Amino acid sequence: MSDHRGKSDKNEWRGPRHEALRVAETERRSEMIESGERQKGIFMQHTAIVGINWGDEGKGRMVDLLTQEFDVVVRYQGGGNAGHTVMNEKGTFALHLLPSGIFRPEVVNVLGNGVAVDLENLSKEMQEVADKGVTLSPDQLKISERASLVLPWHRDLDALEEQRLADHKFGSTKQGIAPFYSDKAAKKTILAGELLHPEALRAHVAQLVEWKNLTLEKVYAAPATSVDEVMAWLERFGTPLLPYIQDTSKVLMEADRAGKRILFEGQLGALRDLDYGIHPYTTSSNCLAAYARVGSGFPGADIAHVVGVVKAYSSCVGEGPFVCEWDGEAADLLREAGGEYGAKTGRPRRVGALDLVATRYGVAVQAATSIALTKMDVLSYLDEIPVVTAYRIRGEETVDFPFPSLLDEAEPVEVTLPGWKEDISQCRTWESLPEAAQNYVRYVEEAIGCSIDYVSVGPERDALIRR
Ligand code: GDP
Repeated sequence: MSDHRGKSDKNEWRGPRHEALRVAETERRSEMIESGERQKGIFMQHTAIVGINWGDEGKGRMVDLLTQEFDVVVRYQGGGNAGHTVMNEKGTFALHLLPSGIFRPEVVNVLGNGVAVDLENLSKEMQEVADKGVTLSPDQLKISERASLVLPWHRDLDALEEQRLADHKFGSTKQGIAPFYSDKAAKKTILAGELLHPEALRAHVAQLVEWKNLTLEKVYAAPATSVDEVMAWLERFGTPLLPYIQDTSKVLMEADRAGKRILFEGQLGALRDLDYGIHPYTTSSNCLAAYARVGSGFPGADIAHVVGVVKAYSSCVGEGPFVCEWDGEAADLLREAGGEYGAKTGRPRRVGALDLVATRYGVAVQAATSIALTKMDVLSYLDEIPVVTAYRIRGEETVDFPFPSLLDEAEPVEVTLPGWKEDISQCRTWESLPEAAQNYVRYVEEAIGCSIDYVSVGPERDALIRR
């Protein structure tokens, strides 16, 4: 097997070396200052954690685990349209908007300017976690003043458009994300920071209401909204959150200068990326680690490490081509074994074999430096484990992920690997994994060209093997 590990020191950012790294970073900073090299004011090397496939790879549990090594966790794109499931000593949490660092009181959590901030859903989510003992002060949670606000009409328009599309619908979670990002690109949103400047807010809302009512009434024949209605909604859900709205760019840059370590937390996965995904069945923001700099509020961040999360098999919520898809009993068994039901919607997920064509592409566009392979334990029931090694398109086999229009014609080329047929959920070391499981990991690693440094064998915090 070739060694992909040369390209980065894979242990660099791990816990046991955390303190040593801090010291090394401090020395690097001093040297930069002394040699006059410090031009950009950037000191620290940071990490992003992202999905490599269609989302739901188990990022939440990985972020929850990794936060012990970071001081700041930042969400940089997306909104409440997906969910991370995190299971820890405080309970089971389905997080949608909140960064996964909220469970450790010393971590600062940031919702960056690229996030679609829905004040109503955020308030609900904060209440839900507070009910389980996780209360968040403005020191622990910071909302970028430059983040745009999802307004009630975005959710309405999302539902109206999916209804209009009928059989051609995108499979939206109806959280208003597509209408929201469309409006953001058209510069027709309210920024969170505007709530801190109420003198101009009403006039801005009035302008937007007048414009939005044209679409609601004339395009969709839906009821109009009013300035009073929108202002009342902003008052109700915005006022309690005012202390949380801050200049988070400053927070991040100061944290960097103070030698703090930042984790950039991606939502969904590479194949749902607006530019690089399976257009048009993508989300409306960029899920790539490359976007973390823009959407977080720290455009100059040195993101030296990108941890990509891959599930040991494939799953996909919603519409769109899914070449590796299984159906019938095989799919039912895998879905049941993996508990594959949407964290946000409860919808049964589509499932299939691990798709190495799509995964290799995901690794490339995420520029992953390290992989966490999750849910290995789920495959223990299979005698043989199929994986997709190539696509057949118009009679030709390819290992390259094709242009989206060709995906409907692609057929999976599967090979089967031996199963291990034993419970691995208690394994905590690489050596304790059955040989067939080790070989599965090595095979995947070889095929995707990136080192698999974590193997997850259960949802619990400690159910993880570090290689
Ligand atoms: P995310 O959006 O990427 O965080 O993915 P999900 O919210 O769909 O999380 C994946 C689900 O799988 C959650 O219910 C996790 O608790 C669970 N999970 C994560 N890793 C493992 C694992 O290694 N084994 C098992 N059995 N479950 C896992």
